[in-house]
Amino acid sequence: MQIRVDPAFLKLDLFCRGIRMDPSCQVEADGGREILRTRAGLGSGLELILPGQLWVNVPVTEAFAHASPYELRKADGRYAVYRDGQVLCPVRLAPRPAWYDRRAASGRLLRQIGTLQGTYLAIYAGRICDFWRPRTGQPHRMNCRFCSVGLNLGNDDAASKTEDDILEVVHAAWRESGVTYVDFNTGHDAGEAALDTLDPIIRRVKAETPLFAGVQAPPHRDLSRYDRLKAMGVNRISFCFELFDEKRFREVCPGKHAHYGLARYLEAIEYCAGLSKNHRFSLSPWVVNGEIIAGLEDPRSSMAAIDWMTARGTIPTVCVFRPLVGTDYAERPPPQTSDLVPVFRRLYEACMERGLPIGLAPHLRVSLVLLPEECRTLLDEPGRFRSGERRLRLQSRALGLAYRVRHAYYRARACVVPAARIPSPRQRRRNAAGLKFLFLWKGAKPR
Ligand code: SF4
Repeated sequence: MQIRVDPAFLKLDLFCRGIRMDPSCQVEADGGREILRTRAGLGSGLELILPGQLWVNVPVTEAFAHASPYELRKADGRYAVYRDGQVLCPVRLAPRPAWYDRRAASGRLLRQIGTLQGTYLAIYAGRICDFWRPRTGQPHRMNCRFCSVGLNLGNDDAASKTEDDILEVVHAAWRESGVTYVDFNTGHDAGEAALDTLDPIIRRVKAETPLFAGVQAPPHRDLSRYDRLKAMGVNRISFCFELFDEKRFREVCPGKHAHYGLARYLEAIEYCAGLSKNHRFSLSPWVVNGEIIAGLEDPRSSMAAIDWMTARGTIPTVCVFRPLVGTDYAERPPPQTSDLVPVFRRLYEACMERGLPIGLAPHLRVSLVLLPEECRTLLDEPGRFRSGERRLRLQSRALGLAYRVRHAYYRARACVVPAARIPSPRQRRRNAAGLKFLFLWKGAKPR
């Protein structure tokens, strides 16, 4: 196949083939991010910035990456991707934040509490996913076969994190790395307490910072919990059902199949999509995502999932299957790029045909997936959606301006009131209850 130096195609090809590292590369010494196995079941690669500001997390440690036609080399102090000995394009290393090496008040390293993925902060907030714990009377773990979360926690990712730990990282990432979005991810919690754990954290994030916040967690039995999340200012809710083909869902995600079933994921997506009015643009966005993995089912099934989601006003997140070291699927081959191009092409087309609000969040670059708006150049006719793209650009500017105003307000407030002295919503409720009691008690005093 002829190589096209289209950054979108290159990002996809790098997901599927990985990259070899020439000995000239000194990633950490040159200010790049080390390879961390944290949080994301499909992450754990080298973070690079391709031309066109496309951030990508490239596989390097997996066996297939050792046979990649791509190579990362450094010459004259600059990094570039090579293919067959020829320079393909210059790249930059994603900058490693200084706060990665600091410790929280609890003594935990900040990078073990939360990490940057692309330009956003990702935090695996709860305890280890219960599908990774062997259960009595059950000979096998029920974890999703591609997933590495159970291998990460307690290693690069701290096994337990307090609310204060998490807020310390959020503040550091906001002030020092300029993140605009924080994503909270949880696995299966047998007691369905994942959202209870996240509630107070999200309230504090929203009270103390201007950040957009998102939650990725299995579907809760009580769907009204999503009304609560929306009311507290959550901007994104994501459900990872991974596979639209029910048979493959059963095989690849035995725990999810046994405890939730594909239908419950789809029901939760429909419910959450129904919470936004006609999916209109808003300065306090509520975006619903369904996440699938391309490369573990027939591409036609992935495209059917994309059409199902976009028809309901939700935006698909499409990951590329990566056979991570140590996982049950470590020996499987990665997908072929040519099989996935039509899937990502359809992703952009379907979002644009439905007028969905893609690519609006300010300063948000995602390295783990190819975002819908990044797939435009994969189309045969990229100019097809010109008027829709104009509308998105205007909306993006409006949202960016609103964010900058909020950011300035929170920065100014932080100079006057240190974060530690901003009362949490719980403290505010307690203070209000205390005042009420005082007034009642005073009123009841004999004259
Ligand atoms: S639910 Fe599946 S993908 Fe998510 S953390 Fe648990 S095992 Fe991994």
